[in-house]
Amino acid sequence: MCLDDFSTGRPENIAHLREHPAFAFIHADVSVAADVPGPVDAVAHLASPASPPDYLRLPLETLAVGSRGTENALELARRNNARFLLASTSEVYGDPLTHPQDEEYWGNVNPVGPRSVYDEAKRYAEAVSQAYRRTLGVDVGIVRIFNTYGPRMRRHDGRVVSSFIAQALGGQPLTIYGDGKQTRSFCYVDDLVRGLVAMLDSSENGPVNLGNPEEWTVSDLAELVLGITGSDAGIEYHPLPTDDPVRRRPVITRACEHLGWYPEVPVVDGVRRTVDWFRNADPAL
Ligand code: UDP
Repeated sequence: MCLDDFSTGRPENIAHLREHPAFAFIHADVSVAADVPGPVDAVAHLASPASPPDYLRLPLETLAVGSRGTENALELARRNNARFLLASTSEVYGDPLTHPQDEEYWGNVNPVGPRSVYDEAKRYAEAVSQAYRRTLGVDVGIVRIFNTYGPRMRRHDGRVVSSFIAQALGGQPLTIYGDGKQTRSFCYVDDLVRGLVAMLDSSENGPVNLGNPEEWTVSDLAELVLGITGSDAGIEYHPLPTDDPVRRRPVITRACEHLGWYPEVPVVDGVRRTVDWFRNADPAL
């Protein structure tokens, strides 16, 4: 059962599943209620705007889905005695003071900055999930997802991989924020999904980092996209957003040892596959 309000998702992304006998869809906002008929074996709480322009546009909704939405999803798991998977984020580490980031690091988040609507909502989501586990015995598993990319992203969702690819294919210059020396570690979506399923199938509490430790500067990523697409539109520099983290790379020892999980798709291959998908995708999406 898939529950979504499509505030940042798209019906087209599940169109191929609609006719499947084992698939059902509920159009609803989990911040209001998670009225899903039982029995429920597991609840995967993935709902939230996750791209910075989305959560800056939807600040109160982002706080609501991280807080009330998580509580509603936890209640659904508790009522059904189901496993609960929380999709948390590398953003709980904020602009990290240690590098790379393992799960023991408590983070460096500005609680009143513009990104706090996402970061603090996810930090609360982790806290309330752990409280449900300690107090009510809910079988909680927390994953912290690092930057993920791949087919079915929105062309204009504002994230760096989708933006660069859309710009390059549209003959526009690639927009680098700041000097482009900041880093991110990019995980291909298929790898990430395998990690989520491994966590669901385990009894680990976590938190467990899920991400690809392959670390790229934003400038190198821009060069890669220009190379793969064959675009000669070049690069345009824009101001760095407030509180934009300088470096980010996961330590994934816990995922390797406890889940037997590690990413298999190198960034060069994943970006190539994503470019192919964008080339064939409906330009309106
Ligand atoms: N970024 C950029 N140009 C863009 C979009 C993003 O240079 O058109 C930068 C952004 O400032 C950040 C990095 O790319 O340093 C990753 O941004 P994204 O929004 O994809 O993810 P997040 O900041 O949440 O890690």
